[in-house]
Amino acid sequence: MATKGASVGVLALQGDVVEHLSAMRESGVDALPIKTVEDLGRVDGLVIPGGESTTVMKLLDRFQLAEPIAQRVREGMPLWGTCMGMIVIARDVTGTQQPTLDLMDISVRRNAFGRQNESAEVPLAIPALGDKPFPGVFIRAPWVERAGRAVETLGERDGHAVMVRQENVLATSFHPELTGDRRVHEYFICMVHDALVGKRRKIA
Ligand code: GLN
Repeated sequence: MATKGASVGVLALQGDVVEHLSAMRESGVDALPIKTVEDLGRVDGLVIPGGESTTVMKLLDRFQLAEPIAQRVREGMPLWGTCMGMIVIARDVTGTQQPTLDLMDISVRRNAFGRQNESAEVPLAIPALGDKPFPGVFIRAPWVERAGRAVETLGERDGHAVMVRQENVLATSFHPELTGDRRVHEYFICMVHDALVGKRRKIA
């Protein structure tokens, strides 16, 4: 029996939305921009892209999306935050009272790699993606300052975690959508397929 393919949403309030949508489509899934709760109901996984975290937290409140996203994630929907997205899903932001969605047990430091390195492309060893280093594009990127026991570090730059996962939530400090390398998108799509299979099993 044919089953419907997975669809992945990209939060489309601000930031590099278009790049993620095309990277997802190139990787073989339906991809939809997400602006409303109705949009959110149509997808099996969500990406929060790069952008400006304080602006996006305000917009999430204004569009009444913060709680519906948190609820879907608590029910098992896979979520991936890139750069600003990592900040938005963190428990807290070191040195600030900045509000977050608190969906992963990490504390992050904004703009952590310093002025000299505000933008850089750094080859990263990420065993979960295979032997070939991944081109890490960092743009005023955060790093993970503290990670709880449930958080798995998948990649580091200069001893700081820059790719982490806690169950159905993935975060990268860098921007895979700005490279031609689709391995992190494919990794996330696998998380989405696994969640769908798990859900079907629960229903069956
Ligand atoms: N520095 C930005 C912030 O703190 C994130 C930068 C990015 O997403 N490229 O929101």
